[in-house]
Amino acid sequence: MARDERSVTPQSEDFSAWYNDVVFRAELVDRWPVRGSMVIRPYGYRMWELLQADLDGRIKATGHQNAYFPLLIPQSFLEREAEHVEGFAPEFFTVTHAGGKELEEPLVIRPTSETVIGEMMAKWISSHRDLPLLLNQWANVLRWEMRPRMFLRTSEFLWQEGHTAHATADDAIAETMLALGFYQDVSVETAALATVPGEKTPRERFAGAERTFTIEAMMRDGRALQAGTSHFMGTKFAAAFGITFTAESGTAELCQTTSWGMSARMIGGVIMTHGDDKGLVLPPALAPYQVVIVPIGRGEQAETMSAAATALAATLERAGIRTHVDDRPQLSPGFKFNDWEMRGVPIRLELGPRDLAAGTALMSRRLSYPGPEAAKQAVALDAAPALLAAELTAFQQMLTRRAADFRDEHTVVVNSWPEFAAAVAGGWALALHCGEQACEDEIKAETTATPRCIPLEGEPEQGTCVRCGKPSTYGKRVIFARAY
Ligand SMILES: [Zn+2]
Repeated sequence: MARDERSVTPQSEDFSAWYNDVVFRAELVDRWPVRGSMVIRPYGYRMWELLQADLDGRIKATGHQNAYFPLLIPQSFLEREAEHVEGFAPEFFTVTHAGGKELEEPLVIRPTSETVIGEMMAKWISSHRDLPLLLNQWANVLRWEMRPRMFLRTSEFLWQEGHTAHATADDAIAETMLALGFYQDVSVETAALATVPGEKTPRERFAGAERTFTIEAMMRDGRALQAGTSHFMGTKFAAAFGITFTAESGTAELCQTTSWGMSARMIGGVIMTHGDDKGLVLPPALAPYQVVIVPIGRGEQAETMSAAATALAATLERAGIRTHVDDRPQLSPGFKFNDWEMRGVPIRLELGPRDLAAGTALMSRRLSYPGPEAAKQAVALDAAPALLAAELTAFQQMLTRRAADFRDEHTVVVNSWPEFAAAVAGGWALALHCGEQACEDEIKAETTATPRCIPLEGEPEQGTCVRCGKPSTYGKRVIFARAY
């Protein structure tokens, strides 16, 4: 009975129900009565902390500094950049009252902080010597969400937003690409996602940006997830906020700015890239517990085995391996095995009296790829730290390869409309497109697919639009997909 309660809807049956099952049953999140809000529970928050620490390290290593800016923005600030306010206004949360009185000017809860940080940049930058100014903020933002989904679309979400100012457009573009590189590296090296870096088509740009770059990740249902974006603003925000500097020549010039963000929706990406019918599969780099030890023994032996498991865990922890001992006395080993499988722990160790007497523990991996599931394997306790560290590295690499293979198998170069429709039903289509909005709209209406990005690594190619037959634009093929 308990097993049924813990089991999840199979992915093949209903991917979306599967997702909902795992986020709740693995105790990543819980519900909150305010629409679009979510509670991130310790197991889920630890994943975010691990991702955050990794990304923060990359941001700081390249000369950026963290700061914190206010949550409340005077509405007039947001109105200074016309495209920006037009894009974000429908999603505003606005504070009209405080201290029991109506405010003279409504305050908007930050949906993003270009306007806040722009205001301060104008104050802090005066000379070319002040450039570049490289800032980052870790914060929550609020954007009204019509169709909330845990981690993927919530009205309040956690993220980082980088904001930088530069003397030249070339410097700002280089910064935009540097940040995109952080996201690509974190996604592949840490989250083991299969991402494609590229540029957004004009219509998919950030409100107020001149160019928007993205990394798009393929989920296990063939949909795309925008996992991080980096924007070149040109001088638009500098003009709106008066961010100017005196050049070496003595003339006053507008700064070129950038902004870039990655959010906790990455956790959703990890879940949907690696998970299977049994539940989560976590890349070791983001797993709250990389190894779980289940001591096995009844009666008097229970205490001995529990103590041995605790000692083994301490050894592994000293070797930098995040380890948890599951000694919940009321639960059977079988229940525990299923539970940690569902929660995605990469490696499980069973420790019973016979194993202990032989100086070993029995290791199981959460997943094998390629090929069938590997059998349990005895590992010598005195060699466990080195052996498990190597196993975790191999597990991480295996997940990266599995995700990349899946993406490649589900990405199709298409040259006709029937091919296009078939491709986006279960994956990504690489197509030539005319770039016209009406044509994009038709494609979306018929297939729900949208242009995700123009891959940076795509080969130059010209031809005719896959939908309407007009000459293609962008000079390359575009990834079209249904997206989260
Ligand atoms: Zn077309």
